[in-house]
Amino acid sequence: ENTVARIAAGEVVERPASAVKELLENSLDAGATRVEVAVEAGGTDSIRVTDDGHGMTEADLRAAVRQHTTSKITDLEDLESGVETLGFRGEALHTIGSVSKLTIRSRPRADRVDGEPPTGTELVYEGGEVLSVKPTGCPEGTTVEVTDLFYNTPARRKFLKTTATEFAHVNRIVTRYALANPDVAVSLSHDGREVFATTGQGDLLAAILAVYGRDVAQSMIAVDADEDLPVGPLEAISGTVSHPETNRSSREYLATYVNGRAVTSSAIREGIMDAYGGQLGGNRYPFVVLFLEVPGDAVDVNVHPRKREVRFDDDDAVRRAVQSAVEDALLEHGL
Ligand code: ADP
Ligand code: MG
Repeated sequence: ENTVARIAAGEVVERPASAVKELLENSLDAGATRVEVAVEAGGTDSIRVTDDGHGMTEADLRAAVRQHTTSKITDLEDLESGVETLGFRGEALHTIGSVSKLTIRSRPRADRVDGEPPTGTELVYEGGEVLSVKPTGCPEGTTVEVTDLFYNTPARRKFLKTTATEFAHVNRIVTRYALANPDVAVSLSHDGREVFATTGQGDLLAAILAVYGRDVAQSMIAVDADEDLPVGPLEAISGTVSHPETNRSSREYLATYVNGRAVTSSAIREGIMDAYGGQLGGNRYPFVVLFLEVPGDAVDVNVHPRKREVRFDDDDAVRRAVQSAVEDALLEHGL
């Protein structure tokens, strides 16, 4: 059964970036106002995510690494009405821990338990087994450290790309979350060097400044459409896109979200590119951070956990709505 668990793990945890995504979501679900992500060797040696969220008691910690345990769904009705939290499968920690060495240190916020101020607990989990649980001194919040990812699944380990490529995936994931949560201070470091840090005190533009730098931030143009959207499946589009002169040769800087979730969608991408017309030049892409709101039943996001590509009931209507919103924003700047 361990083998089955490990094969299943490979489906969910494909590479370091997939583990980073799950840990980051857990931190945000825990109400963190600060999340630090530190990886070594692109995440293949270690991943450490530290938050100041609500933390866990010893009992919470023991439960957290069990399979199919989640504190986020209380009954089936929750599942059907659509859960508010990001993660809800209760699989991530167990799954990551079955293909790595996992150390979790956590202390609940003082207001979460009665009586004595709670102390911290450290739980060590390796290859799917709890190795030790002991009290430890630590600040409120949680630190999850994943080392030697895929140490017991050599086939999966072999599929890892270069450190640079794995780190690029990690960077893209952390960037997506940092941009979508400007009220949370998100930082990323690689091999001890800080890559970016948002302040958690600003708006979207402040987050863009922290992540992409001043030149990009200064070239951004606001997109905001709700009333003037053409009749179609979109309830709102907001965010910002860059002046056509600020562009890159990679799609990586197209950060698009549907109902708060980072996604890729060819309909959204084509709508954006059509709005720029020929202004970008061949194979060039703008910087984009766009949030789309659609009725839950107009989109299929619940594809395989690993996939981020979404489909809409009416892809073409979405493409046209995105194009029109971005065109309007560019037009207002005479572009
Ligand atoms: P899920 O997020 O789907 O519930 P996970 O395996 O990711 O499943 O996490 C299991 C449980 O562990 C969560 O439901 C939550 O109660 C707890 N947990 C995980 N990470 C954190 C964290 N950073 N802070 C507080 N609680 C956490
Ligand atoms: Mg989770």
